[in-house]
Amino acid sequence: MTTSELERKVLDSVPTGLLIGGEWRPARSGATTTVEDPATGEILAEVADAGPEDGMAALTAAHEAQAGFAAMAPRERGEILRRAYEAMIADLDDLALLMTLEMGKPLAESKGEVAYAAEFFRWFSEEAVRIDGGYATAPNGQSRFLVMKQPVGPCVFITPWNFPLAMGTRKIGPAIAAGCTVVIKPALQTPLSMLALGQILLDAGLPAGVLNVINATDAGGVMEPIIRDGRARKLSFTGSTGVGKKLLEQAAEKVLRTSMELGGNASFIVFDDADVDKAVAGAMVAKMRNMGEACTAANRLYVHRSIADTFADKLAEKMGALVVGRGTDDGVQVGPLIDAKGRDKVVDLVGDALAHGATVKVGGSPADGPGYFYPPTVLTDVPVESRLNHEEIFGPVAPISVFDTEEEALAAANATEFGLVNYLFTENLDRALRVSEKLESGMIGLNTGLVSNPAAPFGGTKQSGLGREGGTVGIEEFLETKYIAIGIQI
Ligand code: NAP
Repeated sequence: MTTSELERKVLDSVPTGLLIGGEWRPARSGATTTVEDPATGEILAEVADAGPEDGMAALTAAHEAQAGFAAMAPRERGEILRRAYEAMIADLDDLALLMTLEMGKPLAESKGEVAYAAEFFRWFSEEAVRIDGGYATAPNGQSRFLVMKQPVGPCVFITPWNFPLAMGTRKIGPAIAAGCTVVIKPALQTPLSMLALGQILLDAGLPAGVLNVINATDAGGVMEPIIRDGRARKLSFTGSTGVGKKLLEQAAEKVLRTSMELGGNASFIVFDDADVDKAVAGAMVAKMRNMGEACTAANRLYVHRSIADTFADKLAEKMGALVVGRGTDDGVQVGPLIDAKGRDKVVDLVGDALAHGATVKVGGSPADGPGYFYPPTVLTDVPVESRLNHEEIFGPVAPISVFDTEEEALAAANATEFGLVNYLFTENLDRALRVSEKLESGMIGLNTGLVSNPAAPFGGTKQSGLGREGGTVGIEEFLETKYIAIGIQI
């Protein structure tokens, strides 16, 4: 089979309807929308485009399935997740190809994401049977407390395009483990991975109505009535801070539980006592994972003056050697950005930094031709007022600034309204802990460029979000605590 025959076979295997009440359906209006290959601009597929009526039908299906699903034995819920995990691993190559086609990242990275996404199902299949409660004696000894955990109820999920599977399984896994039903809307650019996942979960035995998948080009028009309806009890969103704030306002009307995984502006600090090669390797991961299109991407690199030139030379050499191309092609390490808007933003940010006096060490100008490619770029002498220091780049650009003192580096790192993750490289344990305590973020990468792990609590502070996904706390976001006061005479 040629590459394009394989691509067509994988694309043709994906359902293209809306998943509502356990059935794949067209939109009531018959509307469809297309999915594009960001490497070529070609149309890959046509999928149903939900309107408000479809959204309401999905919510009704989730609401009607809720009581029955909450009553299912935790072990049974866990086994559904376990079967879905195994199916994802068995289908890893096809799922990765599908993801690369619609999102652009190189195949090796897509394979990594499929494995990472599946791991949330394995982790939460194990958590499903560990939901606990408590029994305690009141301080005055005259009553007893019984504490139980129950599913929060139907959930609404909205996910972004940059990790088309993992941002979904990170929410769907704990929801299923806890006994919650779901309406999920994936991003416009990358619905296919989520549609494929919907079928995997149905095949794994998930009851009808527990997971409802709706694509909608009118995201606001379809999702706002669902959020304001009141039958859903939880909203979990991953995406930009601007959209997250709007959704928080909508969720306030019926006081929904909310989890918000929003934007980031990670600093990457390299102290003079760091192992420079380790720091360069860490920067390659923190910057280049997903072509820089990650909320956890190192956005601002601060390097101690004494090692700044060495660090910049080594990073530029590695960045300049990366192979850019269509993610399906052999040897490609950097794919296209998601769309013209994403690429134009990177062009603008780099142009602004250069206008403020930054210097290009490698890269710096977009490629011609089809697809939304931008070359790996290293900039030095980036002035603090450059927009690059304040806005998410979401592209393969590493802006380096120098610092002289620990206080200066800390102040620069914390000078942002975001608080998702910061990275620091140092071989001095006292400094590592001192700086980690003072950095204002939900996560720290200490001598590593990768923090994401299904078994760890992922999430941000400040305007990077609310709540945590993954780890032992991940399931708590989907559980209500109920306390029963027991009058007792012993
Ligand atoms: P986005 O524009 O906020 O979109 C995210 C999702 O929200 C998409 O499904 C989008 O639908 C939907 N949406 C947009 N407007 C909406 C509205 N008014 N009502 C309801 N839904 C709406 O973000 P993005 O550009 O796709 O993703 C990049 C952002 O996500 C970055 O800021 C990144 O940092 C953040 N992110 C955060 C994390 C984390 O864990 N903290 C992880 C990954 C990404 P359409 O696709 O139809 O527009």
